[in-house]
Amino acid sequence: MTIATPIPEGTRVRRVPVPMAMLAELTYRCPLKCPYCSNPLEMAKRSEELSTEDWAEVLRQAAKMGVLHVHFSGGEPAARRDLEELVSVAVEAGLYTNLITSGVGLTEARVKDLSARGLDHVQLSVQGTDAATADLIGGYRGGFEQKMKVAGWIAAEGIPLTVNAVMHRRNLDRTAETIDLAVKLGARRIEVAHTQIHGWAYVNRAALMPTREQVDACTVIVEEARERLKGILVIDYVPPDHHARYPKACMGGWGRVGLNVTPSGKVLPCHAAESIPHLVFDNVKDKPLAWIWAEGAAFNAYRGTDWMPEPCRSCERKEADFGGCRCQAMAYAGDAGLTDPACIKSPHHARMQEMALTEAADVPPDYVYRTM
Ligand code: SF4
Ligand code: SF4
Repeated sequence: MTIATPIPEGTRVRRVPVPMAMLAELTYRCPLKCPYCSNPLEMAKRSEELSTEDWAEVLRQAAKMGVLHVHFSGGEPAARRDLEELVSVAVEAGLYTNLITSGVGLTEARVKDLSARGLDHVQLSVQGTDAATADLIGGYRGGFEQKMKVAGWIAAEGIPLTVNAVMHRRNLDRTAETIDLAVKLGARRIEVAHTQIHGWAYVNRAALMPTREQVDACTVIVEEARERLKGILVIDYVPPDHHARYPKACMGGWGRVGLNVTPSGKVLPCHAAESIPHLVFDNVKDKPLAWIWAEGAAFNAYRGTDWMPEPCRSCERKEADFGGCRCQAMAYAGDAGLTDPACIKSPHHARMQEMALTEAADVPPDYVYRTM
């Protein structure tokens, strides 16, 4: 094992909230090439990935520090042959286990094995409602057909299923069909999430940016479906920031409810945090996870409200949205320490909205597909 051992009992660290959830990005490898992938533009190679033993220790340390949920993600977590073993470790450590997958790389036997080991929940991504559209968006022929099979295997095992639907200008006009597909697949929940413009999505902004009319129509469809499908399907709706008045509480607040461990062991306050160039991220190979959460410089850079400039500092919403998204402030205002430009009080708000409207009105360029 090459990672740091837990903090010795009695070591003093600053008092911070206990994290509820850990995103374990097992690998950046993925057969799909989604143009909105939130993985960084420069990705860690297979040779840099943590070993099975290292991940097992990270999971045990997470459980010990109070984490309740682990989300196995990537890239495609099924690309790791030790996924099943890591699910067993997490279950034994008392963690609630969620697998976030494209479905590619899973077989019926693997789904049965994961179920037998106690996997609690699966989130299956769906790029479109028909093979031609879905496979074009995901950049992988045969992906849609595979997902339909995987959903059947999950249903047969009785594992609760959430469909993850990332929405953008090419699939937004099929929102109703996307919701219907989730019902057909036996999902209990669907996340209808407008694309977050980070990582590869920032590169593909103009190709992904929806029109205001598309967004408004989607909102109406979601509201109607929520009423109609009460007791059948829960619909979580993530509205787009570019047409908002106020930002979301990104990550539930920086360093407040969750942490993210990358394939090579870096610990991030959010999955896009590497887009903020001045932050330095600690690695589980060098420091215990609990120490990084409490004392790490990146976690303390924007934790709480003390770091806030005006207008956030004196705003009545500062404990509700924590100033919004740091990565969005970096991308659109050039400084992660500023108010999120999604907020109407930000001096960069009008420019961000104007850019979105201009891009949405243009003929969409071809996708720049995510590559390793
Ligand atoms: S968003 Fe697409 S490319 Fe990125 S990890 Fe998920 S399935 Fe793979
Ligand atoms: S000024 Fe800051 S705290 Fe107030 S709503 Fe805008 S982003 Fe949130």
